[in-house]
Amino acid sequence: MLQDNIFLKIINKQIPAAIVYEDDCCLAFKDINPKAPTHVLIIPRQVIATHADITEADRDLLGHLHIVAAKLAQQLGLSEGYRLVVNCKEQAGQTVPHLHFHLLGGRVMGWPPG
Ligand code: AMP
Repeated sequence: MLQDNIFLKIINKQIPAAIVYEDDCCLAFKDINPKAPTHVLIIPRQVIATHADITEADRDLLGHLHIVAAKLAQQLGLSEGYRLVVNCKEQAGQTVPHLHFHLLGGRVMGWPPG
């Protein structure tokens, strides 16, 4: 089952997070259980439960999230490369029902992912 939306509590500053970037429509913070030397989550302030729920109305927001991801990767020194991951729904490993991009880097990555 998808858990409670803990990311909304981070957005609303009800629980702490290591925030590395925020603006009017998104924020980025360090993953509490990092899977790479750099592991940041980029989330919209707007609640979109899963990637499958995005619509045409979200076009600008999604473009913005990608631009933020690219800028953060540069700022965090991921010049050798990085991986941007969206887990969509339970079978893909999604545990928090709030759209998020995983920005992972700082090590060699295997393919395909597990
Ligand atoms: P996913 O499994 O794709 O839904 O990713 C959820 C991610 O959120 C996991 O990598 C968790 O480690 C991370 N996470 C859960 N709670 C927190 C938290 N309070 N602060 C930072 N990251 C979190």
